[in-house]
Amino acid sequence: MPETAVPHPDRIAVIGGGFTGLVLAWRLARQGRAVTVFENSPQPGGLATYHDYGGFLWDRFYHVILPQDAHLLGLIGELGLSETLVWSRPQTGFNVAGTFYPFTTPADLLRFPHLSLPQKLRLALGTAWAARLANPAKLRDISLADWLIPVFGQAVFEQFWKPLLLAKLGEAYRETSALFLWTYLRRLYAARSGANRREMLGHVSGGYHAILARLESGIAAAGGEVRCDSPVLAVKPARDRAIAVDTANSSELFDRVFFTGPASALRAVTPPGFLPPAPETLYLGVICLVLVTEQPLLPFYVTNLADSAIPFTGIVCVSNVVGPAHTGGSYLTYFPKYLAMNDPLFDRPAEKLSEMFFQAASRLFPDLSKGILKSSHLHMARRVQPIQTLGQANPAPPVATGHPSLFLINSAQFATNTLNNDAVVEHLTKVLPGLI
Ligand SMILES: Cc1cc2nc3c(=O)[nH]c(=O)nc-3n(C[C@H](O)[C@H](O)[C@H](O)COP(=O)(O)OP(=O)(O)OC[C@H]3O[C@@H](n4cnc5c(N)ncnc54)[C@H](O)[C@@H]3O)c2cc1C
Repeated sequence: MPETAVPHPDRIAVIGGGFTGLVLAWRLARQGRAVTVFENSPQPGGLATYHDYGGFLWDRFYHVILPQDAHLLGLIGELGLSETLVWSRPQTGFNVAGTFYPFTTPADLLRFPHLSLPQKLRLALGTAWAARLANPAKLRDISLADWLIPVFGQAVFEQFWKPLLLAKLGEAYRETSALFLWTYLRRLYAARSGANRREMLGHVSGGYHAILARLESGIAAAGGEVRCDSPVLAVKPARDRAIAVDTANSSELFDRVFFTGPASALRAVTPPGFLPPAPETLYLGVICLVLVTEQPLLPFYVTNLADSAIPFTGIVCVSNVVGPAHTGGSYLTYFPKYLAMNDPLFDRPAEKLSEMFFQAASRLFPDLSKGILKSSHLHMARRVQPIQTLGQANPAPPVATGHPSLFLINSAQFATNTLNNDAVVEHLTKVLPGLI
């Protein structure tokens, strides 16, 4: 606990030990409050957790920090990790019909053979305009096609945007609001700096494992507790505005409870009728193959794919941001596929998915069958990115729950931001003072 914090009698439960839950608990514990974090999984971190790739730990899913992530960088500073930040300017790639093209600088765009010169100009100017000038309030009720076609023209939409939208959203792109893409473009453009307009991307030495470890030890040092392997099975109203939190091994009373998972997970543990009726939040999920190799596969960080025959929707060569010195001398490449949370692909056995993704990767990178592969790993998550659907069909769940001591705080509440940890810290900074 910081020296200035005065012990507070409130007992607080934070359900969910992902990044949101840990940052929330760390802040509350440092204010002198008695905080207990309940996490379902055997290790903390949720979507930002780590994985053992064979002698070294790195993020289960790829994460980068952007220079404009002021809230996240502030937290990293408070955790004493600023000195371990490493920055780089990686390139972006594009794959069309099996051929990889650099797609980072204006010169790359000019050399790209799959668009005419007027189409390239329209793409460059339209993207800059869309990211900087569009009024996001007006975008919620406009479909992606209705927003993009007037700006970029039918041909650029069909050849450039539609394959990317299908890759990112599948057929759900037709019901997705233009706000969804705007949040991405805005974040991407804000990261671009310098004469060649290349993104600066960063990471902390040790990856998110280092950040999570600092949060966990900070919570413990301030008298709090993080209990992993502790799924909360029931959240029930008790006497005097208190709330009972039940796990398989315990039932404890808390003065305040913060639930940081999806709203559907909160509904699953509260008594029927306890929460006001609301439609289920729609999320995109992700299936991601990670290959650990002896050599880099590509010179790009992100490569966009415009080929619906390939099962993954992008290639993320993390080692072009995180040098191999940070990952046991190995190179890490992630092959993600984003898909709706109820997509039947999630029900396929993991070995089958691994095989399907690996075969497609081997076609793109024949060297994978020549002994450079060290190991492969498959990760999945059904609820990752809430989708902004047309006309508020997927409204943000409220923080208040109807019970004065129970609150929901999650990423579905970001109004005009894509899913990222800077937005998590900003959201907590905004909502917490009104709740405690
Ligand atoms: C592929 C991918 C790439 C990403 N890239 C970036 C990036 O480059 N930069 C960036 O900033 N962010 C990135 N993110 C986003 C980042 O990972 C998320 O912002 C962050 O992890 C969200 O954390 P959270 O705690 O809100 O949610 P979650 O991580 O989902 O945490 C919720 C937690 O609640 C727990 N839980 C739910 N119900 C219960 C229960 N009943 N009892 C106990 N526990 C429960 C779950 O087990 C989980 O751990 C990426 C995410 C993914 C998946």
